[in-house]
Amino acid sequence: MNYCRHCMVPTEEDACPLCGEKKLWPILPEDPCFVAELEEPWSGIFSDILRQKAIPCMAKPQWGAGWTATLGSKFERYHFYVPYEYLPAARELAEELFSQSGEESEEE
Ligand SMILES: [Zn+2]
Repeated sequence: MNYCRHCMVPTEEDACPLCGEKKLWPILPEDPCFVAELEEPWSGIFSDILRQKAIPCMAKPQWGAGWTATLGSKFERYHFYVPYEYLPAARELAEELFSQSGEESEEE
């Protein structure tokens, strides 16, 4: 499995499917990988779920600069990353969360 350090995504291709970067690296278990983009309240819920499962995660505000450990302002969208070794578990949790958020967004 290869890894694009720009997009933080694993790929089996020789070039990154997102940015086209051809200089890819063999992925390491600790490399952060993109899991999901979520906004409040789902970003807070998802980070709680990950914490309960002892999955280390990083959340990056979509419009902000830098990384944050605390999820602050309302309505901000966060990009969630977890180490590659936790990616399958984190994706599964994200899918469960998305199916819940889908059911509850009908009121909009
Ligand atoms: Zn890329």
